[in-house]
Amino acid sequence: MAVIAGNWKMHMGPARARAFFDALDLSGVGDGHDLVVFPPAVAIEAAVGAAKRAGGRVGVGVQNLYWMDEGAFTGETSAPMAVEAGAGFALVGHSERRHLFGESEGDTALKVGAARRHGLVPVLCVGETLDERKAGRVDEVVLRQLNAALPALTSADRRFFVAYEPVWAIGTGETATPADASEAHATIRARLVDALGPAAADVPLLYGGSVKPGNAAELLSADEVDGVLVGGASLDPASFAAIARAAG
Ligand code: PEP
Repeated sequence: MAVIAGNWKMHMGPARARAFFDALDLSGVGDGHDLVVFPPAVAIEAAVGAAKRAGGRVGVGVQNLYWMDEGAFTGETSAPMAVEAGAGFALVGHSERRHLFGESEGDTALKVGAARRHGLVPVLCVGETLDERKAGRVDEVVLRQLNAALPALTSADRRFFVAYEPVWAIGTGETATPADASEAHATIRARLVDALGPAAADVPLLYGGSVKPGNAAELLSADEVDGVLVGGASLDPASFAAIARAAG
């Protein structure tokens, strides 16, 4: 079983979200995989309705949330609002949130906590920049980001995913090698098992960074890679389905 998740970023409003599901052909995709897309917040409800009409195999998540339930927080979306719109998952700490919008590790921990309080499955994103990789700091950065969110992840007995997304591989066409992905995932797995015990062996670890139909099978078969988080290539229904097919 693999997780195939599509992060649509700031693409695909309600009409394009509906068109995506109208065109999505999941024939040949193995049973049992978890398929999820993350539309912009304004398109969640349209995507949820269209996903149901298309057979209900694809879940829908929110790309970001604020940790308060409601209030004077202009421009923000809360976890209960995302749930009301039909979301079941929440991306937290995507590198664009961290690096373009200055989201701190403390913010990320609060967002994970809010997602879990309201029954959204958090997908915690971690990953190093190119400079950090060149300086041999991959483990240090990934563990720092993971550790900041761990108290919120371990506070309740609910599902969560971790996505390893090296910043230098996101939207660049550069992909980590399967060996690089496995190495980072093994670091994440060891820390999770240390914190949570043997049950952490089942936490899905996703790789993200320029995943395409042509490289998905190789990445998905790497050790400790339980799924992929796909940006650009998830916007096209044929390519999203091809990546899901690559999971076997
Ligand atoms: C992402 O946005 O999480 C991502 C991995 O993007 P891309 O696949 O386009 O590199």
